[in-house]
Amino acid sequence: MGKITVAIDGFSSTGKSTLAKQLAKALGYVYVDTGAMYRAVTLFALRNGFIGGKQNNISALIKLLPRLQLKFIYNKELGFSEMYLNDENVEKEIRSLEVSKYVSQIATVEQVRYKLVDMQKKMGREKGIVMDGRDIGTVVFPDAELKIFMTASPEVRAHRRYKELLERGEEVKYEEVLKNVQNRDYIDSHREISPLLKADDAIEFDNGDMGLEEQFERIYNFALRVIAKHK
Ligand code: C5P
Repeated sequence: MGKITVAIDGFSSTGKSTLAKQLAKALGYVYVDTGAMYRAVTLFALRNGFIGGKQNNISALIKLLPRLQLKFIYNKELGFSEMYLNDENVEKEIRSLEVSKYVSQIATVEQVRYKLVDMQKKMGREKGIVMDGRDIGTVVFPDAELKIFMTASPEVRAHRRYKELLERGEEVKYEEVLKNVQNRDYIDSHREISPLLKADDAIEFDNGDMGLEEQFERIYNFALRVIAKHK
């Protein structure tokens, strides 16, 4: 059977990565979490004091970009790929609220987007990929055969993220998480380069009141129909 490209975009904490992981597994496709790539660059910028202090130094970050190594390495035990920054596993650290606070700012930097989009396009050359992010259906794979745009209210999404952070042992307040979600929504939708937009040919999917299983079943069946058409 022929392989297709699946692009999943949407606001933060809409469950894009959960759905993308399930879908990739069921179809035998590769899953790529592009948010992890922007988060890894942000972690690098924070560690080096290029952001998060009194003064940002984005030009120093831009200078070091060519030397920055990002890799996904598959973890057999966990069943998914983890993010490596210059050969260090940073999967846990990139999910902190601290990184979440700055990532949308880093994602507005043209040179950062250029480098990451280029890597993402190369990863999808052979098709058979499920990629999630903010600009996958519009910029990275405008010709993707299946595009999904996920939405849910900011409150529903903040509750999900809040629960996740508590489970990971971070001490956070719900209000702080809600503010972060709203702030990222705003920056992601209003930035000049590749803002978060629903592609014209994407299917919009509001999963506010939908269970994970129902969501997966619906989209998986839909994906099978699209694949059959592209044989
Ligand atoms: O998906 P996740 O919430 O981990 O993404 C973190 C941030 O990275 C987003 O809020 C957005 O600012 C940025 N991002 C992006 N383009 C992508 C993926 C993520 O700008 N394709």
